[in-house]
Amino acid sequence: MKSQKNNSKVTRRNFLKKSSLFGTFAFVNTGNYFRFKGNKTAGKDVEMKYRILGRTGIKISEIGLGTWEAPNANVLSYALDRGINYIDTAPEYKNGEEERMVGKAVKGKRDKAVIASKIFTTHTSTKKETIRFIEDILKRMQTDYIDILMIYQIGSIIPKHGLIKGKEMTRLKNENVIEALKQAKKEGKIRAIGMTSHGGGDFAGYVNYAIDSGHFDMIMLKYNFMAFPEEKELFKKAKQNNVGSIAFKIAGGAYDQKIKGYEKSRTPEFRRAAIKFVLSNPNITNCIMRMPTFEEVDNCITAVNERFGYLDKRTLEKYASAVKPYYCRWCSTCTQVCPYGTAVPTIQRYLMYYTNFQHRDEAVEKYFDLLPEQRADNCINCSAPCENKCPNKIPIKEILTEAHRTLYIRT
Ligand code: SF4
Ligand code: SF4
Repeated sequence: MKSQKNNSKVTRRNFLKKSSLFGTFAFVNTGNYFRFKGNKTAGKDVEMKYRILGRTGIKISEIGLGTWEAPNANVLSYALDRGINYIDTAPEYKNGEEERMVGKAVKGKRDKAVIASKIFTTHTSTKKETIRFIEDILKRMQTDYIDILMIYQIGSIIPKHGLIKGKEMTRLKNENVIEALKQAKKEGKIRAIGMTSHGGGDFAGYVNYAIDSGHFDMIMLKYNFMAFPEEKELFKKAKQNNVGSIAFKIAGGAYDQKIKGYEKSRTPEFRRAAIKFVLSNPNITNCIMRMPTFEEVDNCITAVNERFGYLDKRTLEKYASAVKPYYCRWCSTCTQVCPYGTAVPTIQRYLMYYTNFQHRDEAVEKYFDLLPEQRADNCINCSAPCENKCPNKIPIKEILTEAHRTLYIRT
């Protein structure tokens, strides 16, 4: 405890010192990548590295700071001063509070930050409605522009936001939305248009369309060491088409907390290994990571300076083999045979929020936002034909029954 406190003090002092140096950033072109020199971690020189986000030409740090489990504004500001310039947020995170926090943290250094946010447009959204979404984000962040604006969670079914089954592709192709985004780009309110997907439905079809259509400058997909072959191919295609690629969910979901003996296996070394694995893929522009503390910011910066090696591979393999029976890849194969329309991958994600990340209120609220038929009531007495179809042999009935008991009965 004591050493943690001392560490914080040291890094905060460094932070203040480095704040005054903020205007002296030096980018060094080293061929494919760019480096920010002058950082120090654990007494060693370290350099943040940068890649170019596809055809946007925007230079972004290899690691982006995710604000779903937001750090406080001081940690975020410290990350910025250490060269992590990419900040990922969304109106959905704490009902807009995270966007407000990001806005405050970048005050006075807005030009150093690349901010990405998202909008839940639907298949019926009008141009006017889309423009209002954009204006609302600008207002919350107190900024004149957002660097990257993504259409959020293509493939997910979320009735609360008007995301209806069977309308996923129509939603992505909604011309009113595209027109509004292009207009905002022309007016300088956004610099790049993107899309995100957690999977679901015709996942590959949506991402292929996004790349082929030419409307989208970047994509953001789940990807980590737990085998995501489809995503890997899509990132490759994106690179070939000069579309930027961001990876999220890179650390494998904290499932270790469910397994006796593995509860503390997600060490700083583990997290660095997870980052190194993703960044070893040259088709990926950057990866999003949670950085709730000053120490984690330093840890992430260290990772970009290390090569993915044999020990990293071993660390990740050990975790992967332990959590394999619990880790849903969102392939949606099971949902094709479920007679009830249960939202299998979505419910597993909400259970993960509740159990693994302790976001209990959010998980319960999201579960209640599902339609009754999407919830897991039916699993309890079902013969579970879904389980034979799961390529990862996940005990779906057992996990969803637990999810229903956890997320529904406890309210
Ligand atoms: S156990 Fe039955 S109801 Fe539950 S997801 Fe599988 S098939 Fe659907
Ligand atoms: S439970 Fe299995 S089949 Fe269903 S989405 Fe997850 S990994 Fe795919």
